Amino acid sequence: MANGGPVEHGFPHLDTVRAAITALYKRLSYDTVQTFATSVAPADVAFCDQDDLYLGAQRVARELVRHYRLPDARMIVSFREMTYAANVELAAGPEYFIELNDRFRTHRRDIGAALAHEVMHVYLHRLGLSFPGTRDNEILTDTATTYLGAGWLLLDAFREDGVSSQKLGYLTPEEFGYVLAKRALLFGEDPAVWFTSPQAYTAYTKGMAQARRDAQQPPLTAAGWAGRRHYARDRRHAQEHSALGPQPGVSYSFTPAGSGSLLVSFPCPTCRQRIRVPVRGRVRARCGLCRTVLECDT
Ligand SMILES: [Zn+2]
Ligand SMILES: [Zn+2]
Repeated sequence: MANGGPVEHGFPHLDTVRAAITALYKRLSYDTVQTFATSVAPADVAFCDQDDLYLGAQRVARELVRHYRLPDARMIVSFREMTYAANVELAAGPEYFIELNDRFRTHRRDIGAALAHEVMHVYLHRLGLSFPGTRDNEILTDTATTYLGAGWLLLDAFREDGVSSQKLGYLTPEEFGYVLAKRALLFGEDPAVWFTSPQAYTAYTKGMAQARRDAQQPPLTAAGWAGRRHYARDRRHAQEHSALGPQPGVSYSFTPAGSGSLLVSFPCPTCRQRIRVPVRGRVRARCGLCRTVLECDT
């Protein structure tokens, strides 16, 4: 887990974040994702300055192991001076050694956030799920941590005041907000009440706006007027040429389906898996991966 540096904002990693959500559904299945309907509770990972450092860190690690359901895994947490914020040794287990940066000795309230990310590394390691390259694999780890209910801690560790800022993880605050919002929309959860950081709340709001836009893209019936008009124009073009590949600024494309008919493909607003439905007006489809029912006007 990286440490320090200026805080990047916006959605620069959105494509990888979305690919991570799809990969998670593919590896875990709908049923397993559903078992994560409850987030890590603030009280279960609370850590105050009166707590014993080592016992407290072990307790929080155990809570995360329990949350991710890693029955026989044991986390051994230690502290040392290092460049990174935290690190975990991915061995065969059942014992895993997690190192936390010395600065957490005096920033105990963020230990839960650091451990949420490191224990997720163990979870993904055991699943055999990874993305090639450190950057993408860290984005997968942050996305999985957040989608499965522990990542609100990482977003809440983002704090800024006039003189300093701090953030954990590889996603920008807005991207953490986005994944958290996707989760909130799926499970009907309101993570905003857990934030202690005002900056986390702002980032969550921006992430939620982005997440809502996912569900308002044509051919979904929730699309806005401008999007629908643009879609109708593209569909006309596709009908004249029997296909229309990916266009800039839109996420749908058209392919021929025989005897002059067309299929439109677009990403599922929940899991981002691509869905294909016939172009014939009102169509109700169900995503095969995450089971979301999609009302379309094709
Ligand atoms: Zn990491
Ligand atoms: Zn889906």
